[in-house]
Amino acid sequence: MQKQAGLSAGFVQCCADTALWMWRSYWQLHREWQRTVRQAQRAGDERWLCKLMKREPQPPFSNGLRHKIPIWFDDRIGSLEHSEIKLSPRVIRISTLKRGERITVLLNPAKYHLDLLECGEIKSFQIVKRGKKFYVHVKVEREVRDQPVRAVRGVDLGVKRSAATVLLRSDKPLSRGDFSVIRDGEKTHRLNELNEKVAKLQQMKKWGALKRMRNKRRRVAEYYDRLTAKRIADISSECIVAIGHPKGIKYENYRDNGKRKLRRLMTRWAYGRIIRYTIEECAEQGIKVAAPDERWTSITCHRCGSRNTERLTQSVVHCYDCGLTYNADFNGAINIGSSILAGPRSRWAEVDPAPTSDESLEKRDEAGSPRLHAWEWSHELCPDFIDADDEHGA
Ligand SMILES: [Zn+2]
Repeated sequence: MQKQAGLSAGFVQCCADTALWMWRSYWQLHREWQRTVRQAQRAGDERWLCKLMKREPQPPFSNGLRHKIPIWFDDRIGSLEHSEIKLSPRVIRISTLKRGERITVLLNPAKYHLDLLECGEIKSFQIVKRGKKFYVHVKVEREVRDQPVRAVRGVDLGVKRSAATVLLRSDKPLSRGDFSVIRDGEKTHRLNELNEKVAKLQQMKKWGALKRMRNKRRRVAEYYDRLTAKRIADISSECIVAIGHPKGIKYENYRDNGKRKLRRLMTRWAYGRIIRYTIEECAEQGIKVAAPDERWTSITCHRCGSRNTERLTQSVVHCYDCGLTYNADFNGAINIGSSILAGPRSRWAEVDPAPTSDESLEKRDEAGSPRLHAWEWSHELCPDFIDADDEHGA
C-alpha cells in the first residue's frame, strides 16, 4: 500500500485504522439489527419485520455510497496545537509527503468547543467537508471515575410528560420522594409555536424560509431533549439508570385504534435521541445507563407481573389480577428499573404482594398519582450495560 499510494507509513496506518473503525461500527449496528429482527420473528410480527427489513444497516461503500471517508489523524501524522494567533487560538498541523514539512490549518473554534478541548486528552481529529465549508471533528478522551451504584433509577419516557422516574433501592420501600417527573411543557409549547409557523410558510410557499424554520424546530427539540437528559443525569448520582426503550410503541400505534391525537404526538417524539443524550450526559458523570428492551413495561402490572391490565386513561393503568390502580408512567418506570435488577423468574416474586404496608403508606390525592407500597428484593444487581465511551466530537 505504501508503495502504491506513495504515502508514508503513518498515513497508511491511519487509513487502515479508519477503515477498521468504519467496519466495526457497521458490524455492531448490524448485530443490533439482527437481534431486533429475531425478536420480531419470535413475536410473529409481520409488520414490524417488514419495517425492519427496510432498515438493514448497509456495509460501507455500498448502495451507491461513494463518499470518501475522511481519515482520523492522530499523533502519527497530525496534531492539534495551541497558537499565538489571536483570531485562531488553535491550529491543526498535518504531515505532508515531504519530510519535515507540515501544513498548518487555522481554526476558529467557539468558546464552547475550546472548553471541550480543555477537558480531556485530544486523541485524533478528522477534516470533514460539508457544503463549501471544512470542519474539524476532534476526539477528546477523558477518564471519568465510575460512580458507586447504590440504587436504580428507572426512567419511563412518556408522551405527555417528558419522563417519569423512580428510584429503586434494595433496602428501602418506595416512598413519595422516590418519584419524580421531568416535564416538558415548555418544549411542547415552543414546538407548537414553530409548527404553526412552518404550516404558514408552507401555505405561502416560501421554501427558503421554510427550510430555515424546520432547522430551527429541530434545534429547539434537540435543546429541550438535552435539558431532559441533563436533569436525568443530575438526579441519578450513585445510580444505574435504566431507561425505557419502547421499541414497540410507535409501531403499535400504527393500527387504527382511534388514538389519532396520541399518534400525532408520537411522530414528533424522538425517544431515541433522548436516550442517546442521556447516555452521553450520564457517561460524563460516570453513571452507567442500561436501556433494557422491554416491550411490555407499559402494560405489565409492576406488583403482580400480570399483563391483564387496561389503561383507564392515558395516565392510569388498572390491573385486573391484583386490583392495582396506578399511575401508568410510574408503573412503567418501576418495571424498567426492576428489569435490570434480577433475573426474569425472580423478578416479580420479590415484590411484596401483601397490601398491609400499602394502606399505611398510601396517599392518593388524585387518580393517577403513585400508589405506594412496600418494595423489596434481595438480588444482586445484574445489569446489562450499554457501552458508553467517553468520546466526544467537538
Ligand atoms: Zn397486578
